[in-house]
Amino acid sequence: MPDTAAGPGDPEALEEAACLVCGSREAQPVATSRAQMWGPAERFQWQRCRACGLVYLSPRVPAARIGRYYEGYIPHRGPGAWGRWAGLVRTSEARTDRLRLARIRSLGPVGPGQAVLDVGCGRPSFLRLVCQETGARCVGTDFDDGGWRGAPAEWPGLELHAGELEQLPLAGPFDRITLWHVLEHLYDPVGTLRHLRTLADARTRLVIEVPDHAGLSRRLQGDHWAGYHTPRHTAAYTPASLRQALERAGWRVVAQQQWGTLDPWVLWWLGQQERGPRDWSGSLEGAFLPFVAGKVATLPLALLARWVPLGFQTAIAAA
Ligand SMILES: [Zn+2]
Repeated sequence: MPDTAAGPGDPEALEEAACLVCGSREAQPVATSRAQMWGPAERFQWQRCRACGLVYLSPRVPAARIGRYYEGYIPHRGPGAWGRWAGLVRTSEARTDRLRLARIRSLGPVGPGQAVLDVGCGRPSFLRLVCQETGARCVGTDFDDGGWRGAPAEWPGLELHAGELEQLPLAGPFDRITLWHVLEHLYDPVGTLRHLRTLADARTRLVIEVPDHAGLSRRLQGDHWAGYHTPRHTAAYTPASLRQALERAGWRVVAQQQWGTLDPWVLWWLGQQERGPRDWSGSLEGAFLPFVAGKVATLPLALLARWVPLGFQTAIAAA
C-alpha cells in the first residue's frame, strides 16, 4: 500500500464528505492520520468545518466498504486478545458496565415498567446488567448480530435487533437511550439522532459518550490520537460540536461533562501504540504489564479526570 495522503491504494475507493453536522463543504485540513489498529500504512485527512467547527474525516471510506476495517478488529476479539490476562480485562469490562448503569441511574430511577435502549450494543453485557439490576425492559441494536449470535442463552430477557436503526421495529418511548462510543462511527449522526428523537418522550434521557477532541490527549498526541480511530470514526467531536449535532436533531442538551465511563489511560495508551506502530494482528499478552505500569504511574492524573479534560466526554439530552 502506498503511504500517501490520498488514502488507500485506489484513491477512487474514497468519497468526499460534507460536514456531518451542518452540511457545509467549506473545510480546512487539521490532521493527517494513519489508519489505526490496521496493518497497511494508509493515511487519511481530517478536516475542520469552516461553518460550524466540526472535525470530520474526508475523504473517507464509503459506508458500504468500511466493514473490512473491522476484520480481526481488536475490540471485537474481546478479552481473549490479551492471552493469560483475559480474566483481568473481563473484570475491567464488567466495571465499565457498572459505571454505565450508575450513569443512567444518576438521571433518575430506572426500574420495572421502564425501557432502556442501547444503540450499538455490540456484546450486550451492559444491557444484561441493566436488565438484572433494574428489571427494566432492555432493548439493544447493532448493525449486525455478531455480538450475541454465538451464545443466545447468555442474554436472557434482552430484546436484541440487528440491522439499520431506522428499519428496526423498536417500540418506544424509552426512558433511557444510550450510545456508548457509537455516534463517532455514524455516517449520518444527525439523521440517527433525529430518528432516536421519535422514540423519546418527556421522560427520556439520551446519554452519549464519545472521545473529546478538545481533551488533553488529543492536544498532546496530535495525529496519533486514538480518538480519531481512523478511518472507522467519521467525526471527532468537541463538547461544542456534540451539542450542535444534538440540537440540530431536535434534542435539548441538559448536561455535558468532559469525562466518561472509559479509562482515559486506555485512550492515551492506544495513541502511544500508534506511534510505533504496533502490529495489532498478534496477541496483546506481552503489552499487558507495561500497560498496567503506565496506568499506575498516571494514577494521580486519572484522579483529576473530573476536573481536567483528559480524553472522553458525555452529553445528556432531553426531548
Ligand atoms: Zn459544519
